Formats: sequence, structure tokens, C-alpha cells
Amino acid sequence: MESVSVAPQPTVSLSDHFARDLPELALPWKAEEAPDPQLLVLNEPLAAELDLDPAWLRSPDGLRMLVGNLVPSGATPVAQAYAGHQFGGFSPRLGDGRALLLGEVPHADGHLRDIHLKGSGRTPFARAGDGLAAVGPMLREYVVSEAMEALGIPTTRSLAVVATGQTVRRDTLLPGAVLTRVAGSHLRVGSFQYARAMDDPALLRRLADHAIRRHYPDAAQAGNPYLALFEAVVGAQAALIAQWMLNGFIHGVMNTDNMTISGETIDYGPCAFLEAFEPATVYSSIDSGGRYAYGNQPVVAQWNLARLAEALLPLFHEDQDQAIPLAMEPLDAFPRQYSAAWSAGMRRKLGLTRLPSLPDNLDDDVAQPLVDELLTLLQAGGVDYTSFFRGLGGAARGDAGVVRTLFPEPSAFDAWTERWRLLGPDAEAMDRVNPVYIPRNHLVEEALAAGTEGDLHPLERLLEAVTRPYDERPGLQRYAAPAPEDFGTYRTYCGT
Ligand code: AMP
Ligand code: MG
Repeated sequence: MESVSVAPQPTVSLSDHFARDLPELALPWKAEEAPDPQLLVLNEPLAAELDLDPAWLRSPDGLRMLVGNLVPSGATPVAQAYAGHQFGGFSPRLGDGRALLLGEVPHADGHLRDIHLKGSGRTPFARAGDGLAAVGPMLREYVVSEAMEALGIPTTRSLAVVATGQTVRRDTLLPGAVLTRVAGSHLRVGSFQYARAMDDPALLRRLADHAIRRHYPDAAQAGNPYLALFEAVVGAQAALIAQWMLNGFIHGVMNTDNMTISGETIDYGPCAFLEAFEPATVYSSIDSGGRYAYGNQPVVAQWNLARLAEALLPLFHEDQDQAIPLAMEPLDAFPRQYSAAWSAGMRRKLGLTRLPSLPDNLDDDVAQPLVDELLTLLQAGGVDYTSFFRGLGGAARGDAGVVRTLFPEPSAFDAWTERWRLLGPDAEAMDRVNPVYIPRNHLVEEALAAGTEGDLHPLERLLEAVTRPYDERPGLQRYAAPAPEDFGTYRTYCGT
């Protein structure tokens, strides 16, 4: 830890609500000095939403702020304490081992955002870790989180990736980087597990009050505000996981420390988008049991929410026996809420938001079996999920020629198409929800490898495609295609 200078730029000032409300969860700390900060990518539209001047962010002082070496006025950088169930096993003390919360800024929407650094050096929570991050994984988080945002999926954002000039030792020596992350907050299920494990009811209450103020102010008016908080988190997560599933997103490491209270996707480590539709798909190299497989995500989310309920129990009712049934009701509602969000989303993907040919009450009876059959066909044929739904727009316009070539044996699909087309699918509406471009694994890897070597052009091209995912453009065909056969079984590695 070396000296940190004070910002001369009076326009950047951060608040420190988290650090002041919850000192027990906020360890004041300093970022490690970056020997030679070099900007790799800056999110200018996001900077504008936060009223940060892109020209200043690109300046030497701006870069020093983006890596935490220049602390804006009002800011108290802290490492956040949290606990978490990792692959089912409880760790009472995780916390930011290589990250810092710099402070909060107002967003144009009127709500606060955290400015957070990932890869900023060891903290007292680092355990055996080096506190650092390599360029590749930070670029991955940047591109995948910005793709998620463009797909309309709640997510933390990425403001910048700055190479530090420091070397990071992994399997090989790699260039180090800091990701500057922007989020509604960094409150996690694990934050509540930590407060609960401290056995300090006043702290737990303060944390819940902070979460209510920050994310669910309406809960404060409810008869039981803490139960209302829990219900709101369950609802936000049901909606989020439905969006993941509809878009073929696999988070890869849904530990309770990686599940937010806000309902934003967080921590893009061993994540990937599904290609061939197969619910058992796992990409993470450390997930040998398939706990976080694509098809398991809704069940795991509910499991994580049960851990949140356990942490909140003392706030629901002073008598534990009465608190448990109170918690069970919203928890049991999760599968219903998830299914409703997923079914509605699937109807949109199929262009069937309204079925003009049918009375309303028959809609679900017709749509549901059609969806079930379709997924069976996609799985049996190993069909690329994203290409299929986008291609189906062509079939809605009367040309099924392209989409049917995705099936090794298209006859069952032909029969399905006939029934579906009778319902009058809306092709224009389909094109607004079925992306052409997602961050496909082989393209992400290509961009990361080049970025690690200092060539950011492939990353910029990929960002161009995935940040306007529904807008098909000439010259970007390779960004719409599945991985070539020789790409093999994809694996991503976390903790890097
Ligand atoms: P993650 O898998 O990124 O959610 O991280 C899980 C935990 O490991 C968190 O407490 C991280 O802060 C910590 N961690 C991950 N990588 C490192 C590292 N290189 N150095 C220190 N802590 C780390
Ligand atoms: Mg994490």
C-alpha cells in the first residue's frame, strides 16, 4: 500500500452510504498502486449516464481513479465483508479479496450506483489469493455484462478496463487489469448471511433497512417491511432467472455470494451462452457435478433464496416458529413466479403474445404444449438456441427454409411449424426479442486472447455486435454463427 493522492477534479465526488451505514461490513482499504495504468476500454455512454466526463476519465488522473489510486472527494474505499455458500458449502467469511467499493454516484435515473474495482490488490479477505485480475477475465466481464444490458437483462455494468502494468501469475504470466464495475449495489445474499452469522440483530436490521432504502423503498410501508423485502428479492430473482433461461445464459457459479439483493446479474466468471440447446450444459471447469448447469439455475436460485430467508428469519418474527411459515410463503411462490415470467417470455420469443385466432382462455392450453414440444425437438436435434429463435422469424414471414436446415431431421419441425403458423405469429415482434448477436464463446475467447496481446480490435468489433443485439447488420455475419466444430467443448475458469 502506497500513498493515495486526493482528486483535484472537483466534479467527481462519491458518497459513502454503505461504509457509513454498515461499518461492520466495510473495511476501509486502499487499492494497490498500478505501476503503469493504460486504458483498454471505456464505456462512454455509461460514463455519461453517471455524469462522468469521458475526456477526464481518459486523462492520467482519470485512469488513476479508475484503478483506485486517486480517491475522489467524499469517498471511503472499502472491502466489503460477506459470507457465502460455495457449491453448497458455507464459508462464514469471504468478502472482497481483490475488490473495493470506491463509493456511490447518482445515476441519471435518480438512483445511486456503486463504483467498484475488481483486481485492485489484496485485502484482508484475500486468503491465499493474490488480489489481482488478468486482462482476459476482466475483458470477459466487460463484454458479457454489456451484452446482457443490451439484451435487457438486469446486470451490473462495466465502466472501464484498465491494464495496470503489473504481471499476474496464473498458469502463465499474464498482464494485470482492473475492471471498474457499476452496480445498483453490491449487496448479496451472502451479505445477509454474514450479518446473521455475526449474531447481532441490530446489525441485521440495519443491513435490511439499508437494502430497503436502496432498492425496495415501498417495503418500508408494508406491515412487515422485512418480509416485504424478502418478497421483493424473490420476485426480482424470479424475473432475472427467467431472463437468463430465455436468453440461454449460464452464470456458472451461482454461489450465494454471487446473488444480488437488487436482482442484477453479478460476477461474470465461468459464464457462457448456450449454443446447442441442452439443459445439462455446464461450462465451468470447476463445476464437475453440474450443480450450476443451465437447466438447474431456477432450482439453485430458489435454494439460494432459502438461505436468504434463513438469514432474515429473526426479522420476520421474534418467534422462530412463527417466522418460518412467514418465510415459506414467498419462497414457495418462487417456482410459480419464475414459470409465469418464463412462459410469458417464451410466448414473446414465438411471436404469440396474442393469439387472434383463439379466445383468451384457450391461449395457454394451446401455447404450452407447443413450447414443450419445441424444446424437445431443439434438444433432440442439438439445435443452436439463438440461431433457431432468430431464424424462426423468417418462418413467421413464410420462409422456413433457413431455420429448418438447423435440424438434422426436419420433418417433426415441419409439422410443428405448420401448427405454430396457424396461430399467426408476429414476425416483427419476434425480431425485437430474439437476438442475432450474443457473446458466443469462441468470439469472446478470440477477443480476450487478442486483448491480452494488446490488440483490442476484435473486442471492439464484438462489442459493436453484441451491444445492438437485435439489429442485424451487413458485415457481422460471423458474429451470428455458432462456434466452428473444431472449437470443441468450451470451458471457462474462474478465480482468474
Ligand atoms: P468469485 O468466485 O469471483 O465470486 O470470488 C469468490 C471469493 O474469492 C471472493 O471472496 C473473492 O474476493 C475471492 N477471490 C477470487 N479471486 C481472488 C484473488 N485472485 N485474490 C483474492 N481473492 C480472490
Ligand atoms: Mg463473487
